[in-house]
Amino acid sequence: MKTLLGLAGLFLVALFVVTTFIPYPTARQQAIEAGFDAETIDQNFQYAFERRISFWISTSSEFALLVFLALSGVARRWADWLLVRCKQNRYVAALGLGLAYLLLHEILYLPIGIWRWCHSCEWGMSNLTFASWLREHYVALGVTLVGQAVLVVGFYAILARFPRSWWLWGAVGASGLGVAYAFLSPIFIDPLFNTFTPLAETEFRRHELRVRALIVSARMPVGDILVVDASRQSNHSNAYFTGFGSSRRIVLYDTLLRKHTDAEIESILAHELGHWRHDHIVNGILLATLAAIFGLCVLDRLLRAAVGREPWGIKSLSDPAGLYLVLLIAYFGSWIEMPIQNFVSRHFERQADQTSLELAGQPEAFISGERVLAATNKSNVTPTPWNVWLFSSHPTTVERIRMAKEWREAKKPPP
Ligand SMILES: [Zn+2]
Repeated sequence: MKTLLGLAGLFLVALFVVTTFIPYPTARQQAIEAGFDAETIDQNFQYAFERRISFWISTSSEFALLVFLALSGVARRWADWLLVRCKQNRYVAALGLGLAYLLLHEILYLPIGIWRWCHSCEWGMSNLTFASWLREHYVALGVTLVGQAVLVVGFYAILARFPRSWWLWGAVGASGLGVAYAFLSPIFIDPLFNTFTPLAETEFRRHELRVRALIVSARMPVGDILVVDASRQSNHSNAYFTGFGSSRRIVLYDTLLRKHTDAEIESILAHELGHWRHDHIVNGILLATLAAIFGLCVLDRLLRAAVGREPWGIKSLSDPAGLYLVLLIAYFGSWIEMPIQNFVSRHFERQADQTSLELAGQPEAFISGERVLAATNKSNVTPTPWNVWLFSSHPTTVERIRMAKEWREAKKPPP
């Protein structure tokens, strides 16, 4: 397994070098053809590059921490210490180890997080004071703490109850948690950070009639169209579709409603209706369940291989001392999952873009909307194909503009 870890580490270094330093000059030419000027291209690239470097620093420190915790023997020592003090209760011991990891991770991440906040301020992207940034950071950490505690207890409960088929039950449990999260997060988690107001009750209520007309023409049972006060945090503009069952809703950023024309807003809303029409949240959860079955099956094999072997110090599958090895394997799993998940996500986004063009029928507004979004969000409009493959959840701005132009050409009546 150590060889496997070494190879995985080398793979990460290779990904870093390839996605960060290998240029792709064609992208610049394509961005110019899509209507971006040299200054916007360069500035957006610089902003994205600096943030990507901070991402790599953060992910490599997380990797180093997990390798240290899993290989140095501390997991065994801490687990034994906790087990003695909590009458051999493996759940309490696992929670203690999980908490120790989150605290160490926080110590490593905090300086990077502060740097990211300063960087956003420098580039005019953040509207948060340091105190409010810190408050939001700790609220998010609190939410993570609760979520991780549920996962850790659930994981060891299933391992203890079904030692042979735990990976299958784990996947079922994970998809149940996914549904619960999708349903509950718009009601209980999102309001911890922002205020959500029905469109008709905001200063943007003049859009209500057009928006409702679009929804009627789409024949979709959309209940809530909410406006979020995203300008409290930053100048990013966006819209998204969220929730599950009765908590499904479309959310528009107030920044979006301020910066875009009526036709652009309609086009962006039609894109969100596309996610609704194609049932992307349900499809996403189904795909994630399949991925969880496969991922947990691999985790089962690797954990069994580590039990009773040095340097892992794990006595059985459900020994809490194995938690850091589980986290380390999950860390690598996330790197394998990332390009696959992004591939699926880009496919969903293309479907939503097609629906947007069909529903709103305004390719010009679609194109100008994309240009304004890229400018206000300082999106990198010249990503390399290998960057897109690994990191992009959306097709590039250039690809989306090209797609709208092709749609416009296809719809032109023949001469
Ligand atoms: Zn989308």
